[in-house]
Amino acid sequence: MQFAVRLAATLLALTAILPAVQAATVLRDFTLIDGTGRNPVPGSALIVDGGRIAWVGPATQLRIPAGADVVDLKGKFVTPGLIDNHVHVGLVRDVAQDIEFYSRESVEQQLRTYAAYGVTAVQVLGTDKDLIFEIRADQRKAQPETARVYTAGQGLVFKGSYGGVPGLNQPVANEAEARRAVDEQVAKGVDFIKLWVDDEFGDLPSRMPAEISKAIIEQAHKHRLRAIAHIFYLDNAKTLVAQGVDGFAHSVRDQPVDRALLDAMKKQGTAQMAATLSREASFTYKKLPFLDDPFFNRSITPAAYATLTSAERQQKLAAAKHFAQYPGVLETALNNTRREIAAGVTYGVGSDSGPTGRFTGYFLHWELQLMVQAGLTPLQVLTAATGNNAKLIGAKDLGTIEPRKLADLVVFDADPSADIRNTRTIHSVYIAGKSVPTIWSICAGRAPNECGGKNGE
Ligand SMILES: [Zn+2]
Repeated sequence: MQFAVRLAATLLALTAILPAVQAATVLRDFTLIDGTGRNPVPGSALIVDGGRIAWVGPATQLRIPAGADVVDLKGKFVTPGLIDNHVHVGLVRDVAQDIEFYSRESVEQQLRTYAAYGVTAVQVLGTDKDLIFEIRADQRKAQPETARVYTAGQGLVFKGSYGGVPGLNQPVANEAEARRAVDEQVAKGVDFIKLWVDDEFGDLPSRMPAEISKAIIEQAHKHRLRAIAHIFYLDNAKTLVAQGVDGFAHSVRDQPVDRALLDAMKKQGTAQMAATLSREASFTYKKLPFLDDPFFNRSITPAAYATLTSAERQQKLAAAKHFAQYPGVLETALNNTRREIAAGVTYGVGSDSGPTGRFTGYFLHWELQLMVQAGLTPLQVLTAATGNNAKLIGAKDLGTIEPRKLADLVVFDADPSADIRNTRTIHSVYIAGKSVPTIWSICAGRAPNECGGKNGE
């Protein structure tokens, strides 16, 4: 009797320690686009166990584990979860931007929207409140049901120059302050260090001086962290590459990149992490061309839609100081992306969505289309957004569909490697093997039946 009680107590303790046993999931008969860059493989299957890929291979060799849930995906296409390596979260309510909106609820809501768009991991570029470290810790303790977050905490801004958001980032004025600020971010547990080198078309009095960026990059490397820079100008890009910066969060946008920069980037292994083409493209419109596309507007509130379609907003954007410059900026960014990729520079995909007017999830899909416009094949773009991006953000368990990787997956109805616009045909999204709601089941701020469907009905 006593033994039985003890046994029961032991079992109870064990069940408290062990995670709930989850049956294996089998996906079968799909075309595999595995994120490594190899060609799509029709007739594939995979087994998910404990949130990870346990096996992947030809459906003909599949051995279904006892008790597994089997999902037939005939005619569908499976890729790793998409990654957006340049975002900002928690800053915007409808279309208004204010750091005061930053809360656990607003951040998690946005991470849920990313996941709904098949974006299962994001890297936030230097505009997070410290709350992000709790959110990230919770995600890493148990597998999340929202996009996984990687953060730079508060990025480094030079006093009087461009960067950060008001009320959050504390500008630095000298090398000692810069090094101390890096140490502070490292102590918080950041995944990398972000710095801004820009003066907003010369509107601001200065850009971060070379000795400050050098100190920041050195200090980041001392802690074995990557240093990622916001750039605009070719001359700053050259200086930063010479200083050992790990990646650029934007394209060079003032003039064409030259041979000297391309050679230096290749020699140093500097990545063109994000081209942010959708960012530049968005600034060329008074009224975004996809406001009535359900793939876009299912994720925005009626209040945001009303603002975006208002005559007042269109007048305001048309009157903005640099509005007329952006078609040229976009063209330069597209051409520089094309040149860098042709030269063999390492690249990823990032949209810089999250500040006002640049929308969660949709903008990554737009970015993929613009990368194709810049000259990549759809397969190269998909590889950049999955396998390449995982390497660039330092996520060893993500980015490809291979044994032992986390089962973050997107299932599409139509082939995204044939036409990149087919990334809109999201059928299902898995995070650590668990199915989460897609954009086609979301209807932000409205009753579920008030949103348009897949074919725009
Ligand atoms: Zn940004």
